Amino acid sequence: MGKRTLELNDTLYQYLLDVSLREDALQKALREETDRLEMGVMQVSADQAQFMALLIRLMGARRVLEIGAFTGYSALAMARALPEEGRLVTCDVSAEWTGIARRYWREAGVDGRIELRLAPALETLEGLADGGFDFAFIDADKANQQAYYEHCLRLVRPGGLIAIDNVLWSGAVADPDNQADDTRAIRACNAFVHQDPRVDMSLVPIGDGLTLARKRVNAGSTS
Ligand code: CA
Repeated sequence: MGKRTLELNDTLYQYLLDVSLREDALQKALREETDRLEMGVMQVSADQAQFMALLIRLMGARRVLEIGAFTGYSALAMARALPEEGRLVTCDVSAEWTGIARRYWREAGVDGRIELRLAPALETLEGLADGGFDFAFIDADKANQQAYYEHCLRLVRPGGLIAIDNVLWSGAVADPDNQADDTRAIRACNAFVHQDPRVDMSLVPIGDGLTLARKRVNAGSTS
């Protein structure tokens, strides 16, 4: 026993899923269809999607913003956690991937809660009103990670939560020899959020690493 986060080997991770995952047949079908795609590795893990859905319910969130829809697994989980009148705006540039997403959202009956914006996310974000969201999930191109974070800080209400995905980048961020553009962009964003007095934050080692940043009610204070 120790204080450090456990290293999850395959056996322990499978146990974690066995005793916690509540994935229904539709979610499973979407996950399996996505796994067969060349870029399937980009899909959020099922346990992480479930965790974010729990956060959304805890907050009583009604307005969710997602940057990076891919094939829609995370949006499906989050939209289901919203009340009937809740809304999720999700940004992506791929008609092909989001075509899969739409099919599953419709089948789940949550398509009415989801607004897909098929355009470069920065363009979409510039057109959204300040403070209109309770929760934002950033999971898109890593070169713009910090730019998306900055937009999200404007777009979530005080007390709202920003979740940033892939912050551990399969461990590459801790390897000084890895100077790939995406790795450097993620490192820079991580260092920035860590020191940002506008948020309370925690880095959760779920999936590929998820930073949670809560927008302080009075920026620069500790409330
Ligand atoms: Ca991701």
